[in-house]
Amino acid sequence: MAKPELHIDLDAVIANWRALDRLTGAGVDTGAVVKADAYGLGAGVVARALAGAGARNFFVASADEGGALRRALGPGPAISVFGGHMAGDAEVIGGAQLVPMLNSLDQITMHFETLPGAPFGIQLDTGMNRLGLEAAEWEAAAGIVLEAGPTLLMSHLACADEPTHPMNPYQREEFLRLTEDTGVPRSLSATGGILLGPDYHFELVRPGIGLHGCAPFTEGRKAVRLSLPVIQIREISAGETVGYSNTFTAETQMLVATVAAGYADGLHRTLSSRAHLWQGLVPCPILGRVSMDLITVDVTHLADTPTHLDMLGEKQSADDLAAVAGTIGYEILTGLGPRYNRIYHGGGA
Ligand SMILES: *Cc1c(COP(=O)(O)O)cnc(C)c1O
Repeated sequence: MAKPELHIDLDAVIANWRALDRLTGAGVDTGAVVKADAYGLGAGVVARALAGAGARNFFVASADEGGALRRALGPGPAISVFGGHMAGDAEVIGGAQLVPMLNSLDQITMHFETLPGAPFGIQLDTGMNRLGLEAAEWEAAAGIVLEAGPTLLMSHLACADEPTHPMNPYQREEFLRLTEDTGVPRSLSATGGILLGPDYHFELVRPGIGLHGCAPFTEGRKAVRLSLPVIQIREISAGETVGYSNTFTAETQMLVATVAAGYADGLHRTLSSRAHLWQGLVPCPILGRVSMDLITVDVTHLADTPTHLDMLGEKQSADDLAAVAGTIGYEILTGLGPRYNRIYHGGGA
């Protein structure tokens, strides 16, 4: 049976990375965040394409992700780990030459004891209260830590997707206060922070979602098209129902296509009876419930019998689908799951 196809445009990813890089000044390095398998699109392939375009700093969530990325990238590019150094990580951090972004006094102690002399960065909490040393902890440890030569001091903005939010300047001031006169490269901004302007760029920026042309980098090129094969088409009469719980009843005779993907593939059940699939530029409404592996679609109005219908593409982005599902583009992309045939275009792949 034909598998659903997730088409990934590596040229678009590279173009987005370059566009974000152009938003920052000459002294600012643009990294690439490829955690969660590059937001579901395939960390190895995406990172290799970006390394080919000149990216030198990659970020992942955990040491395990870092180990896998090192195997895909080979030696050379820096791979930093947001989760820092957790118990049991020393072997993979040392073996894959990862740079943990240490986020507590315990992690600092563990790293210095298990991998003395190995590179590390420091994550500071500037108000998000998620990861990083608190100001008082940093003030107590800074002397020893700075002597050991961290590669990076970083923090993360909580509200960067809201440009006028007072949390942004508050966190920036706090970050400046904690890091001034250290002489160590600094990083505060993900995609949203890059768009806040040069005051937020410091020496390194860390875009993730923007690489795929999703909000808040809405001017970016869309990197994905998701094409679902039609397994079966049937004609139903007025009064017949479609799908679980009979939530759709036909008022006239119609043609129903069944496509091969469902909520187990990240196509949320909340899309039931609300979202559309597309044949090119023509919308086709979902009929009734999205089930685990299948979705039923109205194709009565199409000029020719569809073999595939697009869930993501030119007419419907991950952000559009997210708006219908009541979530964000990040969750749509990272939820896409393992059952798609991922097909890469461009990027030297
Ligand atoms: C996920 C993440 C990023 C990337 O964020 P985007 O909004 O996807 O650009 C950057 N920094 C940290 C600490 C993150 O957790």
